[in-house]
Amino acid sequence: MNHPPVSRALFDQIMVPNYAPAAIIPVRGEGSRLWDQDGREYIDFASGIAVTGLGHAHPKLVAALAEQAQKLWHVSNVLTNEPALKLARRLCELTFAERVFFANSGAEANEAALKLARKYSADHFGPDQREIIAFTPSFHGRTLFTVTVGGQPKYTEGFEPLPPGITHVPFNDLAAFAEAISDQTCAVIVEPVLGESGVISATPTFLQGVRELCDRHKALLIFDEVQCGNGRSGHLYAYMGYGVTPDILTTAKGLGGGFPISAMLTTTAIAASLNVGSHGTTYGGNPLGCAVANAALELFSAPELLADVRRKHAVFMAGLRRINERFGVFRELRGMGLLLGCELAETWRGRSREFIKAALDECLLVLVAGPDVIRLAPALIIPDELIEEGLSRFERAIARLCAQPTP
Ligand SMILES: *Cc1c(COP(=O)(O)O)cnc(C)c1O
Repeated sequence: MNHPPVSRALFDQIMVPNYAPAAIIPVRGEGSRLWDQDGREYIDFASGIAVTGLGHAHPKLVAALAEQAQKLWHVSNVLTNEPALKLARRLCELTFAERVFFANSGAEANEAALKLARKYSADHFGPDQREIIAFTPSFHGRTLFTVTVGGQPKYTEGFEPLPPGITHVPFNDLAAFAEAISDQTCAVIVEPVLGESGVISATPTFLQGVRELCDRHKALLIFDEVQCGNGRSGHLYAYMGYGVTPDILTTAKGLGGGFPISAMLTTTAIAASLNVGSHGTTYGGNPLGCAVANAALELFSAPELLADVRRKHAVFMAGLRRINERFGVFRELRGMGLLLGCELAETWRGRSREFIKAALDECLLVLVAGPDVIRLAPALIIPDELIEEGLSRFERAIARLCAQPTP
């Protein structure tokens, strides 16, 4: 059959309408730049939602993928494989972890973490310690369990009945958390830096306090570093910057640099509760994903790269402050490493999506984190020239928005 070329219009005809993608279709990427079907070039401050932390088509990741593709794609977990074992060993060397479970997405890593916490509690403390505490706002994925733990009504409405035993407490509110935690609490899950929910960092006192109260009540502490992990915060994992160690850590997004892979890290004692047959996934620990993640981890764990992420944070903040001095569209500029949030000023509240559109018109990709925050998550290796060029495009986009008559 002879088909016409595919276009954005086709999306609306044949895809389930749960997404509303932008008008362009990128066809190629290199480093921090993308090209669309018409050959227009874009600077990427989005990284596919904090995923392509090493840019597009990094030669070392391409080589790792191509090399593994010639050898072995998939064997299932009936067998183990070399790339998975190498990746797990390296993750244990670099972090608090002694045991690793691989899956394919952030939600699945969190699902595994939450199930492990329940199982561990059942094994050690009996049937009364089942409650999971999470914070609002937060985001932990879209499976029914993780979306319920995330606690945002707009993501759970219509999907009821929801799994029970989940309590929500305001983020960064240690007093409210101290009220909520009890000997019925089996686990607490927290994003050290809120990603989807506005790019807000946990305060060190909050994370330390949560750690202490979890210890006192024998509740497991889970850090969801799906977004803030893998070098994005300027530390390999954000917990290292805080000096607060979780019992279980989940990560995904940047881990495979664009190849779908996620991991749950924990200790030997806790891992023991996921005994043979208790949990699993067909693709988790797939040789292709693990080979790419091995190459990615080697790059984004390098101390020089992490130091450069912290330096680039300052470059971005200075540029954003300059833009804001001219236009006053932001009430706060914040974030950690190369996960940056620009909270809109009062007059612009609720209009973050207009900034995505305006930036796209200037050939720049940015993200939002809710209706009031513009989120930037460029590649960790973005060159300084592209930071400056991207910020100039951002400034032009904002100038254009400000020149429009207010609706
Ligand atoms: C993106 C994200 C998830 C979900 O990851 P998926 O790969 O989309 O399932 C979970 N937690 C956090 C903090 C995230 O940013």
